[in-house]
Amino acid sequence: MNTQSRVPSESAREPVEEGRRRQLIEVTLDSLAEVGYVGTTLAQIAARAGVSPGLVAHYFGDKDGLLDAAFRTLVRRVGEQVRLRLAQVDTPRERLQAVIDANLAPAEFEQRTGTAWLAFWGQVLQVPSLRRVQSIYQRRTLSNLRSSLRALMPPAEARDLASLIAALIDGVWLRAALSGWREADSGSARALLTEFVDRRLQAHAAARGGAPTVAGASPATGASPATGASPAAGERFATRNPATGEVLGYVRVAGAGEVDAAVRRAIAGQAVWAAATGAERARVLRAAAALLRARNRELAELETLDTGKPIQETSVVDVLSGADCLEYFASLAQSLSGEHIDLGPRAFGYTRREPLGVVAGIGAWNYPLQIACWKAAPALACGNAMIFKPAELTPLTAVKLEQILLEAGLPAGVFQVVQGFADTGRLLTRHPLIRKVSLTGEVGTGKAVMADASQTLKNVTLELGGKSPLIVFEDAKLDNAVSGALLANFYSSGQVCSNATRVFVHRAVKDAFLDRLVARVRAMRIGDPRDPQTQVGALISEQHMHKVLGYIERGRAEGARVLIGGERVTEGKLGAGFFVAPTVFDGCRDDMAIVREEIFGPVMSALEFSDEREVIERANASEFGLAAGVFTNDLTRAHRVIASLQAGTCWINQYNVTPIELPFGGVKLSGLGRENGRAAIEHYTQLKSVYVAMGDVDAPY
Ligand code: NDP
Repeated sequence: MNTQSRVPSESAREPVEEGRRRQLIEVTLDSLAEVGYVGTTLAQIAARAGVSPGLVAHYFGDKDGLLDAAFRTLVRRVGEQVRLRLAQVDTPRERLQAVIDANLAPAEFEQRTGTAWLAFWGQVLQVPSLRRVQSIYQRRTLSNLRSSLRALMPPAEARDLASLIAALIDGVWLRAALSGWREADSGSARALLTEFVDRRLQAHAAARGGAPTVAGASPATGASPATGASPAAGERFATRNPATGEVLGYVRVAGAGEVDAAVRRAIAGQAVWAAATGAERARVLRAAAALLRARNRELAELETLDTGKPIQETSVVDVLSGADCLEYFASLAQSLSGEHIDLGPRAFGYTRREPLGVVAGIGAWNYPLQIACWKAAPALACGNAMIFKPAELTPLTAVKLEQILLEAGLPAGVFQVVQGFADTGRLLTRHPLIRKVSLTGEVGTGKAVMADASQTLKNVTLELGGKSPLIVFEDAKLDNAVSGALLANFYSSGQVCSNATRVFVHRAVKDAFLDRLVARVRAMRIGDPRDPQTQVGALISEQHMHKVLGYIERGRAEGARVLIGGERVTEGKLGAGFFVAPTVFDGCRDDMAIVREEIFGPVMSALEFSDEREVIERANASEFGLAAGVFTNDLTRAHRVIASLQAGTCWINQYNVTPIELPFGGVKLSGLGRENGRAAIEHYTQLKSVYVAMGDVDAPY
């Protein structure tokens, strides 16, 4: 049976017909995932799609025609992904990785797609048309692998290794599918294949006495080969550019030995540092700030490569805000003081503000250098030593800060960077000689860190997630409110903790507000983050991008309406990176997942309100309390509303600006403690109270 003869060519089909055809194929994939190959009947598909069986027959002939088309769709999708990735890379090793990554991408490990593949695989031996499609798919994969390998080894060896890699790709996927996706996920499967290929290529090079082949990278998840867990101490992990997927470098994971050694060095360094005067400490911090400013361009470029954020942002915010912070706390270092307490003519008391000792900083990936500075500056100003662990997705710029601080004159050991995953973070939070942990991260991580820190009664500062509200009243200057909402949702591709992703707009101005907002979103430039014209860069990783896209799908499924965006951006070279279009949802309800949960991506939910009391109640109905904003021209209302909002950091007629002078932090599940401002000093010092007698000791014994 030749189903192809019944399927009209792409160009001949009308757009409506094509849309209908695609819908029927998607319904078929749903059905395969739910009831399997045998249960998927023409009548059932017609009923699911709400069309007559005759219409299905019109497009596909019979059930076999429909299943054949659905199978071709799956195969074509993988083929497109392979082509897209191959177009972005140059070297044979990168081409091999592109084939592996596309075949084992998260989309292929997803329940619905995976079950449909399984259903087809079960039938290929019985159904000739499926068999044909399957063999085309296999031949393509083999040929892609072989042609890359032939550049690295003789043809016979290339053929054998290509077959082995293809078998491993199919095998690891099949085992994962048959275990209900418990045995492996996309990250661990790709890591397994990557390691296998690297080892084979190295063995091949060694056997020929040549240099080892350029090692392939671990996938962006950094998952370890066999288990899907993070790499162990001493192992290396790759850090990638999220805009291109390319490997930027390899980083070694610090284990217990390294963390202990770092703590020992920190204790020695801290003794020297704490003995310095405030003026001496200030000089070092100012010198470091000057070096940051002098190297702003170079550091911003590195941050852009590591985070995928546009150079337009990193060159004016990330590095410079770190420098501002060092300068601010340099000033405070010279004015740290205790209190004199009058206790009458025979005594007085005083307090000394002393450093805590060795403290740990653990950073998130959205503002790597800024977070390192926001933690290091107050810690060092107060005479502490800090051991800092950046997020494993963005390990590069914290190391630069370490070098700059040394160059500025900081004694050895006083600021050190250790690299790794949560295991390395735990070594810090559980270390008995570390006196405090300051974490920027998710709420779950905050709870884990606090629980671990409690075992040694460490002080904690927790800067956690949010789902903040922005309230636009009917008297607001609308263009400013729109600007505020844009800053509150799309800076750093929406990966900002304080973002106000719940935008409450008064009913009287909502339509006008959304019209202007959507027009400005439409004009945003998404592109290569290194291009100074680019305004929207990449999300941090493939995994995170799928999380964000998953929320967008949930929003649609729950009935919200996408006004703009709502999809991944894959134009040109962007397909190799993790770009999502700025997305605005209208028609949102407070109970929707997109309105309740932190998405940490460029996704804004617009909500309508009509009454001040009502909007305050709805704004506060969240477990988070990081930030909030109000746009209104009514002075008294602005302060009244802000006073009623449960949030640690608030803006009136502005959003997301964070001068170092103002304390920053959250309430409720958004965190504990404050960074920046004088308030941070409280969190990096302890008070010693001293009683001083001025007369004789009067003892009753
Ligand atoms: P995570 O909580 O996943 O990670 C934060 C850091 O903690 C990483 O370095 C991570 O290591 C480490 N870590 C993870 N588990 C543990 C553990 N059990 N013990 C010790 N350390 C651990 O956050 P993300 O990196 O995903 O960052 C995004 C989150 O950060 C969002 O929720 C965002 O709102 C929040 N955030 C809050 C800010 C604020 O100031 N309130 C500012 C910026 C972001 P690794 O990832 O390397 O394995």
